[in-house]
Amino acid sequence: MPEFKTVRGMRDFLPEETRMMKYIENKARSVAESFGYQEIMTPIVESYELLATKAGEEVRLRMFAFKDLGGRMVALRPEFTPSIARVVATTLKNEPKPLRLFSVGSLYRYDEPQRGRYREFWQSDFELVGSSRPEADAEVLMVTARLMERVGLKDYIFKVGHVGVLRGVLIDEGLNEKAQNAVLQLMDKKQYEDSLVRLKDSGASEKCLTVSRGLIGLRGSNISETVEKMKTCVDGYEKAVAAVEDLKEILKLVVDSGCKITVNVEAGFARGLEYYTGMIFEVYVPQLDVALTGGGRYDKLVELFGGQPTPAVGVANGVDRMMLAMQEQKVTLKGTAEKKVIVISAGDETKSEALRISHLLKDAGITVELEVMGRKMGKALEDADRRKLDYAVIVGKKEFDEGKIVLKDLKRRKQTTVRIEELQETLKS
Ligand code: AMP
Repeated sequence: MPEFKTVRGMRDFLPEETRMMKYIENKARSVAESFGYQEIMTPIVESYELLATKAGEEVRLRMFAFKDLGGRMVALRPEFTPSIARVVATTLKNEPKPLRLFSVGSLYRYDEPQRGRYREFWQSDFELVGSSRPEADAEVLMVTARLMERVGLKDYIFKVGHVGVLRGVLIDEGLNEKAQNAVLQLMDKKQYEDSLVRLKDSGASEKCLTVSRGLIGLRGSNISETVEKMKTCVDGYEKAVAAVEDLKEILKLVVDSGCKITVNVEAGFARGLEYYTGMIFEVYVPQLDVALTGGGRYDKLVELFGGQPTPAVGVANGVDRMMLAMQEQKVTLKGTAEKKVIVISAGDETKSEALRISHLLKDAGITVELEVMGRKMGKALEDADRRKLDYAVIVGKKEFDEGKIVLKDLKRRKQTTVRIEELQETLKS
């Protein structure tokens, strides 16, 4: 037999990493609850057409796509948003707005595996559907900030832009959507010179080239100053000016809310996914050169899937990358240090009693294992030490007949005899 390995880009998560992934997932779930987001679950396998419709070339070309046995062209979801938009356009179409939806699960992209980039990865996803107002964009930024804070991350920076600014310029220049997307895609890959060449080839004016060049170089952490510069830069392009105003209002709300985040406004920032129509953002930490999170406004997507025109804004947080960042920043997980107990029967005649005692402790909410290897006492205790357990409950015939057991504190190396009815309390204190 060959030695089997995981498929390239796929990973096993051993207990420690699984604990961390679930910790982040649970923090995301509690943040979702605190903002009124309701969790939904959608399939991992969706129709290829749904997923390919608006994914942007980057993601579309990297989908795990195949024909199922019924001959349907399907794919593993590379992101949550199309599934959510599908649900909103169909099953939830008559629900009053806003809808606040939360999902967490695995996604699949045929990316080139490297640190922080896998072919199977996890996201926690928040979507706020039905509002086109800046309050909604601000909320999604604040949800993200709250999550970063709750998992214990530090020094995170929000990179924020607005696709409406550059798109506004290009629309006024008469570029069609395909040409706009091509330019934005090059910018997303930071191929700025190529994007300007593409602009020129599409027939854009000299003024448009100057403005685009200006936007590409324009960034800063002083929000009002950078936004004012953006406004001056796009002067004369009406839609672009409106987009800058929108961005200004969103960021003002975030700052006024008292949410303390570091923001870098980047006028030339584009994101790979084609469906964004407004504010876009990513979150970075200094220890990683890949984004932890990506989000933004997508006002056309629900309509594209046959729903009513429905504005929406959302964010997808990369759970794997948050874990990497937490490891880099040596974040300790809070509230997860539980005492661990092993129940060991001193001989074969007390096996059932040992089982009964382990149930008793589980009923009291204590984490209990049972010795199942038939080890002699010395070996069993040695093994408990090796695995860093806290207590051993030793069930012997003589003590049990007197209603007692022996409790061994493995860390302090102390041993006492405890009455069975007092055992739960003793371990809990
Ligand atoms: P996107 O949908 O591309 O905006 O991605 C949103 C977030 O998902 C990113 O910021 C990452 O944290 C995470 N992510 C995207 N692609 C991958 C990948 N191949 N491996 C790990 N995490 C990813």
